[in-house]
Amino acid sequence: MIIANWKMNGSKELVIKWIDSVSQNIQINKKKECIFCPPNCYLDLTQTLLKDKCKDIKLGSQLFDSELLAPLTGGTNPKMLTDFGCKFVIVGHSEQRIHHAESNQILSNKLEIAIETSLKPIFCVGESLQQKEANQTKNILLDQLNALSSNIVDKCVIAYEPVWAIGTGEHAETSYIEEIHSFIKEILKAKTSSANNISVVYGGSVNLDNYREIYSSNQVDGLLIGGASLDSNTFTKIYNMS
Ligand code: PEP
Repeated sequence: MIIANWKMNGSKELVIKWIDSVSQNIQINKKKECIFCPPNCYLDLTQTLLKDKCKDIKLGSQLFDSELLAPLTGGTNPKMLTDFGCKFVIVGHSEQRIHHAESNQILSNKLEIAIETSLKPIFCVGESLQQKEANQTKNILLDQLNALSSNIVDKCVIAYEPVWAIGTGEHAETSYIEEIHSFIKEILKAKTSSANNISVVYGGSVNLDNYREIYSSNQVDGLLIGGASLDSNTFTKIYNMS
């Protein structure tokens, strides 16, 4: 599974050019899902273009509100995302946790409502640098994974994204990623016996120089790529060669 998270980047023009280029060059392998998460304002355009040019790239959103019916100015509910053809949604990205003060309770509600609305959550977890340096990583992950109740674990993708690696150019070492992914998988297995097939993907400064080594680990089931995914050639190469 290879995920492009454009974050708050792009324009109509870039979406059109990116889809044009990716759809011409990508070699889709049905066993390796390809997911594109543009900003919400480009979902409609993206859906239309993908239908025409590359149906095998799945659409994901970076954001939604957990209220289905509240009169919430500026809100986007999960049904609206499915209206745009979204199949996936990112939940608990560290930037959203920080800027929107998303607590475990809020995230737990979001995970439930996403699944009820037939969206597959890409649930992000990860420690800050301060937490890493204080040897708190596993406690933090344990706490963040508490937002996942056992009945929905196997309906989610987990993205391990150390906060200190996001957008910094400093990715985690493969041995460290392996240790943490295996820890996450153990926690998930303890929650439910059906956790064996859950994908745990890595995100944080993945680029053309490091993707191969990270993805070659059998603990890594995919990559969540932020900044580097904006370049259509880079994204396509990483997808095709991983
Ligand atoms: C992200 O924001 O989810 C991310 C992985 O970003 P980057 O690849 O730019 O570090």
